[in-house]
Amino acid sequence: MDSHTYPVTRTDAEWRARLTPEQYAVMRNHGTERPGSCALLHEKRAGTFSCAGCDQPLFESKLKFESGTGWPSFNDPVAGSVETTVDRSYGMVRTECHCARCGSHLGHVFEDGPPPTGLRYCINGVALKFEPAA
Ligand SMILES: [Zn+2]
Repeated sequence: MDSHTYPVTRTDAEWRARLTPEQYAVMRNHGTERPGSCALLHEKRAGTFSCAGCDQPLFESKLKFESGTGWPSFNDPVAGSVETTVDRSYGMVRTECHCARCGSHLGHVFEDGPPPTGLRYCINGVALKFEPAA
């Protein structure tokens, strides 16, 4: 992770206590979950997807779409909730995205999404918590 200071910070021990081992691997070590492995991929109810690390709302269900990649995909995040960095790992140049509040890694952004923005936020489902609309 970079040296940026986030509004929510936790020690490594606190992260390990809060997150499952799979969540920790994805969110704190930039891991990637197995495609199609997360139940949230098929979540179609109206509601909000929040950060599993700090509960900040990140994505609204109405901007979720089926990308066929095996990961939950969204057109756009809630304004200001997601920050991006350039990721040059694995010999590729990709845009990494993370929670603006706690810095946890969420996934990557690609420019092959649907209109209006043409963006596709490809997110690890384990990094999200879904709350159905009341
Ligand atoms: Zn967060």
